[in-house]
Amino acid sequence: MTVPGTAREFRDAIRAGRLTAVDACTRALERIGRTDPALHAFQTVSADRALARAAAIDRGRAGLDRLPLAGVPIAIKDNICINGVTTTAGSRILEHFVPPYDATVVGRLEQAGAVIVGKTVCDEFAMGSSTENSAFGPTKNPWDPDRIPGGSSGGSAAAVAARMTPVALGSDTGGSIRQPAALCGVVGLKPTWGRVSRYGLIAFASSLDQIGPFATTVEDAALVLQAIAGPDPCDATAAAHGVPDYVTALPNEPAKALRGRKIGIPRRLLESGVDADVRAAFDAAVSQLEDLGATLVDVDLPHSRHAIAVYYLIATAEASSNLARYDGVRYGLRAPLGPDDDLISMYERTRAAGFGAEVKRRIMLGTYVLSAGYYDAYYLKGQQVRTLIRRDFDRAFESVDVVAVPTSPTTAFRFGERTEDPLQMYLADVFTVSAPLAGLPAISVPCGFGAGRLPVGLQLTGRPFDETTILGIAHAYERTAGWWKEEPPDLKVGPT
Ligand code: GLN
Repeated sequence: MTVPGTAREFRDAIRAGRLTAVDACTRALERIGRTDPALHAFQTVSADRALARAAAIDRGRAGLDRLPLAGVPIAIKDNICINGVTTTAGSRILEHFVPPYDATVVGRLEQAGAVIVGKTVCDEFAMGSSTENSAFGPTKNPWDPDRIPGGSSGGSAAAVAARMTPVALGSDTGGSIRQPAALCGVVGLKPTWGRVSRYGLIAFASSLDQIGPFATTVEDAALVLQAIAGPDPCDATAAAHGVPDYVTALPNEPAKALRGRKIGIPRRLLESGVDADVRAAFDAAVSQLEDLGATLVDVDLPHSRHAIAVYYLIATAEASSNLARYDGVRYGLRAPLGPDDDLISMYERTRAAGFGAEVKRRIMLGTYVLSAGYYDAYYLKGQQVRTLIRRDFDRAFESVDVVAVPTSPTTAFRFGERTEDPLQMYLADVFTVSAPLAGLPAISVPCGFGAGRLPVGLQLTGRPFDETTILGIAHAYERTAGWWKEEPPDLKVGPT
């Protein structure tokens, strides 16, 4: 029997009775047991809960055809709440936090038949590009354990790349799904802001945060998006738009999908700062799209060169406000207090002990840019330039269907290489921050390898709520290029 690899294959095998949900879950748990000690993708493995859910799916055999993710094992980033399962957001301040409710996406995945096997490691409060900011130790890149997996959803990316679960959820504020997906050689999708409910996602920067899937194939990403997307009475910012059928809209024939499509290439933006090996893989990918019938069109996104600066103003401002709730009273940690402590020193001690260096840096920066004397100069200006960034995209989409760039300017870097220099770290996000600033959907799909056989990702950004087009083009490319079949070294899973 062929071993299922993708979520679709797991689901079909379970529906056909070739595999039980309990077998699928056991297999995922075994693989985590064997592989995770070397990678540390998982913060928590909830084996008993997962096996109980899988057994319930098996008992309900008759209804399996109605469950689009019947028995599919999935991992969830540790900043998404699951009722009764510790949810740390990578922070000491939430080390023992057990949510009393499920995030909307968690409920929807389980209704669709998915089996959550555990929570994945992430940068503290999703702040970072390398997963080195987790208070509980970093995740390693399955392609080279001396290197970072990207961040902040590094655990989810590594779990899927190492075939521990076929799919996972992450959150993306400035690139945290797409960049680790690219660096780990898997698919990562950030939906349009508002496409997926944020209820139960621990907030970082609310006008940017969005939950989305990791997968080994575009089809699996579409399956997961299908399950989680749509309006939600618990989140007023979840858009009321109906959810199209992303899965059946995927093109059967790559050439049909690309014929007549226009792909925008912001050449000026790519002129500097992209490593040669990444550039070569990107150029090969876009010429493959051209061979399939697409037309490449130069587009100009003149304000995107300000995107990093704008992002780090707006994201830190919103973070400083969102993180004010960690006060030692309502959630998580309270530092030990002496007889002389008062309310203010309790706050100070708790926040000093509970937050890591990067989180503190961002709270200070965010508080500064929101302060009375600087609000107009920094925060307001940032919001204005954000509008200009969005308008550049609106203009580009008058003549193209999607905009293509490399997801990351480099392949995975080594641990410690950028930790001493936050600005260097922030530059890792140069191509990923524009889409969330403009609220647009964007996908990263593997497009080959750079030096040292490290994965490279192709990023496609689409019109608002047009996930269908980026999924379709990414799927057509993936089926033609075939990179999705590549697995990290020593991870070949033999038949069981
Ligand atoms: N790397 C970016 C940051 O550090 C993006 C993080 C994210 O998308 N959550 O803020």
